Amino acid sequence: MHGARSTARVRCPTVTRGPDSLVQLGRSQRPTAISPNVSLSPEAPKVYLETFGCQMNQADSALIAGQLAEGGYRRVTKPEDADVVLINTCAVREKAEARVWGRTSQLLRHRDNNPDLVIGITGCMAEHLKEHVGERAPYVTLVAGPDSYRNIAGLLDRARAGERVVETKLDRTEVYEGLDGHPDDDGVSGFVTIQRGCDKFCTFCVVPYTRGRERGVPPREVLRQTRALAAAGYREVVLLGQTVNSYRWPDEQAGRDVRFSDLLRAVAATDGIERVRFTSPYPVDFTPDVIAAMAEVKEICPQVHLPVQSGSNVVLERMRRGYTREQFVTLVDQLRSAIPDLALSTDILVGFCGETEEDHAQTLALVDEIRFDSAFMFAYSDRGITYAGKKLDDDISPETKKRRLQEVIARQEVHTTAAHDARVSTTQRVLVCATAKRGDAMLAKTPQFQNALLPLGCAEPGVFLDVMITRSTGHSLFATPTAQQTP
Ligand code: SF4
Repeated sequence: MHGARSTARVRCPTVTRGPDSLVQLGRSQRPTAISPNVSLSPEAPKVYLETFGCQMNQADSALIAGQLAEGGYRRVTKPEDADVVLINTCAVREKAEARVWGRTSQLLRHRDNNPDLVIGITGCMAEHLKEHVGERAPYVTLVAGPDSYRNIAGLLDRARAGERVVETKLDRTEVYEGLDGHPDDDGVSGFVTIQRGCDKFCTFCVVPYTRGRERGVPPREVLRQTRALAAAGYREVVLLGQTVNSYRWPDEQAGRDVRFSDLLRAVAATDGIERVRFTSPYPVDFTPDVIAAMAEVKEICPQVHLPVQSGSNVVLERMRRGYTREQFVTLVDQLRSAIPDLALSTDILVGFCGETEEDHAQTLALVDEIRFDSAFMFAYSDRGITYAGKKLDDDISPETKKRRLQEVIARQEVHTTAAHDARVSTTQRVLVCATAKRGDAMLAKTPQFQNALLPLGCAEPGVFLDVMITRSTGHSLFATPTAQQTP
């Protein structure tokens, strides 16, 4: 049994305190490695952690895993081996919550062999439902929101002692500065969260309610984490935020705010980091300085995920997205003319309250006009606590939503296939990431974030290779290394 722990905030001793100025946080500082898992006795309580949802949630799971290791918990890879099962959840759509409920009841069967098994949920669904989780699933005895991970080990201790724990207070200042995560990734491409929460309050979205108000992570912390990833052998960094490009941080020394573009340039200048990506930018905040940074800094990948949601101005207004279709198209034109070979992906939400067939036709037309390289497409579901959930009528039938979603998917499929096919017979510089899940190839990423499958064993993860694209399946590329490799 591990010892008692304080609930006071813990700071990593390696964190750089002092000025936030990016100048003072440049290349000259020595990198700090990600702290290794503390050595734990075989009697340490064992935790199984499973993640649903977006990259922010994956990054939060790494944070939770790090805090649990600090708190004396050992991570296991199978729920049957665990004393505690944690599910880090997503609440953005009704379907996502339904999947979590299905999974929690599946996991409940492990109580047959281990009656003391604690089942907990963390993340957006925990924040969304709070104590109501207990009404739906009384066997879930730990409910922890996204701002309660500093003391997640203490919360688990209480749940293991038999208490029903619900900790969902949001904290306007919590950015988890100084904490090191234990990521469960390929060791090649790593996440750095630069912003938490969201202030946009799109009418369909739960995020401002489940993740709280927007706050930036200090530049010193972003760069500390970036250097730690580089020191651990990562070659690519993905900067994360709900509206990542609205990032700002007051820099008193410089007399002006650190903008997202400043941070992008500083991260890209980190020794050892050769690729930088970011997700998800908000269209309104895609300012010229960000476009200029993308055009000028070779480490910043020519890839943007730019959620449009709808092609209808009436629907965009009802969603309170803050831009029109025309403004979105203009932004895309600016990006494409500044950044050659840019890959553009998006999110589309069909069947929002009041969406007419004409609105839907405008979304289909926008998909054809922009020819996104790929898209995540969803049908709207009423999330209750949002403005739309309270004030707007969810008046599109499930059948109509389903049909519209299928139509958008079919339309986008044509463009996704074309974007992949267009790469055939071109030379690309790819970053080898891992052995592909199918086991007979290496998975690599093009600068545009397309999957490229290479001959098994042709290079180790973390290596850059020049490859010739030999064929496309419409969603993946097949490639072979070229005879000549650039250094
Ligand atoms: S910008 Fe809108 S859709 Fe994106 S997280 Fe914020 S409220 Fe949600």
